[in-house]
Amino acid sequence: MYIHNFSAGPSILPKTVFEEASKAVIDFTGNGLSILEISHRSKDFIKVMDEAEALVRELLSIKDDYAVLFLSGGASTQFFMAPMNLLKQTDKVAYTDTGTWASKAIKEAKLLAEVDVVTSSKDDNYMHLPKDIVVNNQHKYLHITSNNTIYGTQYATFPEVAIPLVCDMSSDIFSRPFDINKFDLVYAGAQKNMGPAGTTLVIVKKSILGQTERKIPAMLDYRNHIENGSMYNTPPVFPIYVSMLVLRWLKNLGGVGVMEKLNTTKAAVLYNEIERNPMFYCPVHQDDRSKMNVNFLLHNSDLEQKFLDHAKSYGCQGIAGHRSVGGFRASIYNAMPMEGVNVLVEAMKTFEKSFG
Ligand SMILES: *Cc1c(COP(=O)(O)O)cnc(C)c1O
Repeated sequence: MYIHNFSAGPSILPKTVFEEASKAVIDFTGNGLSILEISHRSKDFIKVMDEAEALVRELLSIKDDYAVLFLSGGASTQFFMAPMNLLKQTDKVAYTDTGTWASKAIKEAKLLAEVDVVTSSKDDNYMHLPKDIVVNNQHKYLHITSNNTIYGTQYATFPEVAIPLVCDMSSDIFSRPFDINKFDLVYAGAQKNMGPAGTTLVIVKKSILGQTERKIPAMLDYRNHIENGSMYNTPPVFPIYVSMLVLRWLKNLGGVGVMEKLNTTKAAVLYNEIERNPMFYCPVHQDDRSKMNVNFLLHNSDLEQKFLDHAKSYGCQGIAGHRSVGGFRASIYNAMPMEGVNVLVEAMKTFEKSFG
């Protein structure tokens, strides 16, 4: 049976990418060597790194005033690396508390500067994105999480503030176009919408670096990674290679504008069925519903296991909700085709017939 993978992360990637990557594991360039055994400083791998960076720049329209880095340590390392590089200990900075990852980012930033949590939707179990964001020019930046992977909320438009944004885009980067000029820094762990776990994309405005007075360990200083083209130390070569293949795939499909339309359609089809089907409901505020992670619940939660089994009989896997929300979460990242969403919707319809 064909498996439709709705996992939240690590998550689905294009099948063609798996095929090409598996060939590169055996024989990368036809000279009998695996990509896993060649030097990261060989010309064959440098070509991969250069193409990966060029694709990020092309797909997101990023000019030379921003550096594009492929680092390791996950988005969780960026929670402290960003404030470490951007702030003095006495600086003030604004953070929004919109979910588990946002609150982890806050916790880390508090070690490194004076953090104002300017808004929070915690009282609502993070089921909406608070719009009452008030910052002042004392704040060096506003940190936001563009898509809250666990709670299924996503900014349809980014907050309009007069200070730069720093954004965790781990679970929706490359799902839609955005204007990088509003951001001092964007970071994203690869394993949701860009590639396998093991590398983190960082896009940082070069002119903001070098202004903090603190001593930064070499591996945590963006400037070292910029000077060395993301090869200050041995980079995660395979995750970068696979991410590059995913970005090639995305470019060939037409880029992030085309992808946004597809994502909008997929999300609409799924949310429409949740609204139509009397057995299910979506707990997330209408305006803030994510096009990447669709959370939904059964009115009769006693039937949860039955629906999981039923969906599985259609090949739909990975839809159990996060333990902090319960119910179901269908992650419909870029690589999830319309067909997969249609199959899940069909499973919901037949479930209604059997148990409704
Ligand atoms: C998964 C996720 C993280 C954590 O990423 P790691 O790479 O595991 O550190 C952070 N933020 C968001 C929005 C995520 O979805």
